[in-house]
Amino acid sequence: MNSCIEWIDDNQSRFIELSDQIWNFAELGLFEYESSKLLMEILEIEGFTIEREVASMPTAFIATFGSGKPIIAILGEYDALPGLSQDKIPRKQPINKDMPGHGCGHNLFGVACLTAVLAIKEKIKNEELTGTIKFYGCPAEENANGKGWMVKEGLFDDVDISLTWHPSDANSVVSFNFQAIIDVLFKFQGQTAHAAGDPFNGRSALDAVELMNVGCNYLREHIIPDARLHYIITKGGKAPNIVPEEAEVWYFVRAPRFEQVNDLYRRVLKVANGAAMMTETSLEPMILGGASNMLPNETLEELLHRKMTEVKPPIYSDEEIAFANEIRSTFPENYFDNALTIYPQEIRELTEQFRENPLNNIVYPIFGRGITLGGSTDVGDVTWVTPTAQFVTACSTFGTPGHSWQMVAHCGMSIGHKGMFYAAKVLAEATEELMTNPELVTKAKQEFQERISKTPYESLLPKMSSPPIEHFRQIYDNI
Ligand SMILES: [Zn+2]
Repeated sequence: MNSCIEWIDDNQSRFIELSDQIWNFAELGLFEYESSKLLMEILEIEGFTIEREVASMPTAFIATFGSGKPIIAILGEYDALPGLSQDKIPRKQPINKDMPGHGCGHNLFGVACLTAVLAIKEKIKNEELTGTIKFYGCPAEENANGKGWMVKEGLFDDVDISLTWHPSDANSVVSFNFQAIIDVLFKFQGQTAHAAGDPFNGRSALDAVELMNVGCNYLREHIIPDARLHYIITKGGKAPNIVPEEAEVWYFVRAPRFEQVNDLYRRVLKVANGAAMMTETSLEPMILGGASNMLPNETLEELLHRKMTEVKPPIYSDEEIAFANEIRSTFPENYFDNALTIYPQEIRELTEQFRENPLNNIVYPIFGRGITLGGSTDVGDVTWVTPTAQFVTACSTFGTPGHSWQMVAHCGMSIGHKGMFYAAKVLAEATEELMTNPELVTKAKQEFQERISKTPYESLLPKMSSPPIEHFRQIYDNI
């Protein structure tokens, strides 16, 4: 039979169509009904066994094909971001103003994983490979850390290895750390009154929110440099002449390791309680989600790097380069130097060539071990329960900000599609090697055991058994 790479090349148009359909759906985390249904339908037709609504999330699922060991999990996402609607053109133009858009490229993310598992399925069906391939349909990466809930439910307990990827502006194995995060809503309850007639009878919940934010902005000076605090006010009253009796502020609290984020949250909570005390309001903190930092697996990182190098990044057409140049003209003047700041010197030097050429088509050497980036990912939780590694591929012009209209535009056109197929091929080739090389699986598992024995895993999720779906619905209704 053909190689996985040939099979993927022969089936491209079908997967482009799927990725564009999910790009059009652009559904928010926990509400990806159409996107997950589409993926499940295809997997079912292809003979996979589907477990639906896993971990009490309507849009989470697991699709399994094959039998026996090894069990390889491929983690796919498909949620979009609010307010990022954008057409597939290199200038800002929403299709439907204020509606969601795929600003993190998760339409490509889910479909690349689907492509890879279907290529592997063909080989298992033809008895060229033995083992089990599992597609994890992971909702709500952007808001509710869906994978953490799946971990909490024990859904990775039988998995030998997990692999995943993410759209980016360059091609690299992910060997740096991401921040641990606690995602929390602070709800203040006060006493309403006529804001002019009898304000002395009122106790403003909005005052509490504002004082809490002032306190946290002072707190910033005295927290570890890599930690991050950010918030939005999700409820602030109905009219200026009514003292707000209810107000809410939504915080992300982040730090490089889970014990550090727990400590920082303890301090943020003190500030919130102080604000409630000052305003004579009551406070109800509600943890909505959380994600751990990453436990690396160098054995798997090296496998992915070798496959990325063998498969080779895409070659771009003149039209794609022209699109990228136009996108680049929308970036701030110093975008290139800013984009380089996260890289070590060796990688900066390699990247200089993309100051003029807007599409980054090289594979970086493995770098970043020990560096923590500013963001967080729920892949973090998976890394603590099964050996896991991930990589990124260029799906956009170099320097494209994450969660931007520019990213949405790329992910609906051929630059994004090329990055998607490159990722699918690397995932399939890496899975094939794991299914034919048991020593490699054993080595990755041994490394995992050594690391986990030094630092036991601690979930940052709240005690409840499923994510607060209704609260997310209300938050989105209010925004
Ligand atoms: Zn993402």
